[in-house]
Amino acid sequence: MQTVLVIEDEEDIADLVGFNLERAGCRVLKAYDGQIGLDMALKERPDIIVLDLMLPTLNGLGVLKGLRRDSRTQQVPVILLTARAQTEDRIQGLTSGADDYVTKPFSPKELVLRVQSILKRMQVNSGSTEFVVGPFSFDKNALKFYIDNAPVELTSTEFKLLLYLCERANHPQQRNDMLRSVWGYSDDVISRTLDTHMKRLRQKLGSFADRVETIRGVGYRFVNPA
Ligand code: CA
Repeated sequence: MQTVLVIEDEEDIADLVGFNLERAGCRVLKAYDGQIGLDMALKERPDIIVLDLMLPTLNGLGVLKGLRRDSRTQQVPVILLTARAQTEDRIQGLTSGADDYVTKPFSPKELVLRVQSILKRMQVNSGSTEFVVGPFSFDKNALKFYIDNAPVELTSTEFKLLLYLCERANHPQQRNDMLRSVWGYSDDVISRTLDTHMKRLRQKLGSFADRVETIRGVGYRFVNPA
């Protein structure tokens, strides 16, 4: 059974979300406050977190940063709950390491589907769990990435984007296909975050940054010289 932590100060919403997740077979933990939610996440290490942006004591972006800073929760996927007007916050959230977002008012069913889709993506790939291309190697099981055997810290989104490009080395990949593969769908908000993710990813690749090419009007390509 997988554990979902719901951090949401509106108790009605937290309860509704919790009820639907429990019905879908998850174990649910709830926190009605940002700081309490962050502490609970570090202690309980849930499999996924549903995080509201507007929270007392510590807002959602603060919680997200706290989660991403701590090795215990660095890789735990996060779905943001945001109001329709919070486009910039949503973009900031996605580039700060959130995996997805759902806009309020949302249908609990949609949220449950998003949770299940991310959990499925995180599951162990039963085939080969290691993928190697040139100096890069990916441990798909642990979501760990290495350059010349030295570990490089990537967020789960950066990991998935890079793996997607590397598995299709030398072939240009379209933005929308990348978005759909990593997030499961594509829309304007996540599209606006793609270039920021790619920029950070390149910074982390150091001297290999130029292996990831921007193809104007198309998307990106990973170059693996023969
Ligand atoms: Ca709230």
